[in-house]
Amino acid sequence: MDTKALLEKINYCNSLTSYSRRKTIPVKVGDVVIGGDNPIVVQSMTTVDTMDTEGSVEQCIRMIESGCQLIRITAPSIKEAENLQNIKDGLKKRGYSTPLVADIHFTPNAAEIAAKIVEKVRINPGNYADKKKFEVIEYTDESYQEELDRIRERFLPLVKICKEYGTAMRIGTNHGSLSDRIMSRYGDTPLGMVESALEFLRICEDEQYYDIVISMKSSNTQVMVQAYRLLVQKLDEGGFKPYPLHLGVTEAGDGEDGRIKSAVGIGTLLEDGLGDTVRVSLTEDPEFEAPVAKALVDRYEHRASHESITTLSNYPINPFEYNRRETFEVYNFGATNVPRVIADVAAIKEITPKEMKQVGHFYLPELDKWKMNDQGADFVFTGSNPIPFMLPNGMKEIQNYEIWQYNADTENKFPLFSFKEFQSADKFHQKLNFLSLNDIEVAAAIPLIKERTDLVIILKTSNRHNYPALRRAFVHLLENHCKIPVVPQVAYQQQSDDKTMLYTATDIGGLLVDGLGDGVMIDAQAYSDMDRETILRQIKLHNSISFGVLQAARTRMSKTEYISCPSCGRTLFDLQETTAMIRKRTDHLKGVKIGIMGCIVNGPGEMADADFGYVGSGKGKITLYRGKEVVKRSVPSEKAVDELIEIIKKDGMWNDPEA
Ligand code: SF4
Repeated sequence: MDTKALLEKINYCNSLTSYSRRKTIPVKVGDVVIGGDNPIVVQSMTTVDTMDTEGSVEQCIRMIESGCQLIRITAPSIKEAENLQNIKDGLKKRGYSTPLVADIHFTPNAAEIAAKIVEKVRINPGNYADKKKFEVIEYTDESYQEELDRIRERFLPLVKICKEYGTAMRIGTNHGSLSDRIMSRYGDTPLGMVESALEFLRICEDEQYYDIVISMKSSNTQVMVQAYRLLVQKLDEGGFKPYPLHLGVTEAGDGEDGRIKSAVGIGTLLEDGLGDTVRVSLTEDPEFEAPVAKALVDRYEHRASHESITTLSNYPINPFEYNRRETFEVYNFGATNVPRVIADVAAIKEITPKEMKQVGHFYLPELDKWKMNDQGADFVFTGSNPIPFMLPNGMKEIQNYEIWQYNADTENKFPLFSFKEFQSADKFHQKLNFLSLNDIEVAAAIPLIKERTDLVIILKTSNRHNYPALRRAFVHLLENHCKIPVVPQVAYQQQSDDKTMLYTATDIGGLLVDGLGDGVMIDAQAYSDMDRETILRQIKLHNSISFGVLQAARTRMSKTEYISCPSCGRTLFDLQETTAMIRKRTDHLKGVKIGIMGCIVNGPGEMADADFGYVGSGKGKITLYRGKEVVKRSVPSEKAVDELIEIIKKDGMWNDPEA
């Protein structure tokens, strides 16, 4: 499809250059309204056993106090569904009226009870009327229709109850738990995810029931972003109502990784005005989730007044599938090279070898050697504070042109030009030069630089609508067939570590998910007046965020990926403790994906594309997986990590950690 035709077809957001929220129908959930003109709602999910009424009430209160406006509680069977009434009453007695959402998998009978008690029910279309057997089934159009009729029969009673009781519903598709029917027809794709929800949505609309919110979650941020965009597009094309969206990345993990992964997916969509409620899933206590969601959402409060961005007349990027922008190979940037990390250390005056450990390079004085860990930055930008010692082989230095041009070693150091310097410069590096451009300079620069194969652009913007402004600059380059590699650069004022993680993950992660960008650079200038220790700490954080964003956007793997569920009332072991234990033994396995799931009911489906899985299958019992295949059942939990490592070893994916 040509780009103009594609742009005409793209209808997943109001504008790709000017911020506004997608207009959705308001859905009332108790006292909270999702969608319409209402602010984005922050929600989270309990982790204690639903039968533990007091424990659930206490946890709900902690969550509410941390900013949670809607609370989801698992209802795996009738007894838990019934106990939602006690939890609701307990909260009311303590003065809280926060709406509750029952989380349902596999059990329509529990859903039908819960829908009479709580304000909203979440169903998973992948397992509401289907048991997952991982079978590929050949359907004729008739037999497929028979399946849809069977679903209708199972689902209709719930729709009728919700309509009668004024209960809202979320149709919550998960990439990892699509039904065998959907998998057989559409595969494991964003389109399959969308169709999975639409099958259920059609039944609701036939009954004139519209109190619906939809989600398209995945632990793969590229799939997640594409699926939400496609959903909006298909809702519009199919003449459905514009239902509000619940945004989330499943099994994001914990700590910095969990925050970054969540922000790459959720933030990218929020930037385009999509999303009416947000849940950040972390393998941490649930009261830590709402503040992260709030930090993501709060960024858009005044976003609509951002500086203007040139509108688009065509859009050469397909937002529904991943394609990396085609570029020249310049030194080790672009083409098929992994995106590079440029660590900005310019704020450190007279940096010493010892301090290079902040960016993953370790000097061993007794051996007079350098070692690098998996997160060793590829380049350091030293600005006007050049490095006074010899750098390790794996690390190169970028200096401001004004310093570089008088440098004795102009071979192993590379210059960074401003646009003005570039236009009048008479000295360039033979192989690699960096040109700093802001988004509004790109159009003017293209005729001067287009054919150069010795150039990498460092692209920044001062527009508050950061990712769309940078994306617009990439469109200029694409339209003009300019194949120069580009490293997006972000700069923030002094702010909390969490904000730096979330903002970078949104602003650069969004580009990477769209196949744009050949590296990451986080400006540390805002910290240059601080004491040395603070600067060093910040640089270390920036380096780790840079690698984290590349990994979360699935563009460069530098560490083990943990796909761990956030846990809920179904969880069969202490997820936080177990994740920490598995991490301790396996965190040197670069690129290996390990799923850590609290229950066998949803775990195997939801760990998506993990290479190995550790899944709770009974009290003190673990089932171990290779991909989706069970390798060992009911392993006692005290032996399960050793057994998991044995399986990884047998598959040749193990290497011993370095001393
Ligand atoms: S996989 Fe984890 S979060 Fe999902 S239902 Fe099972 S225990 Fe709960």
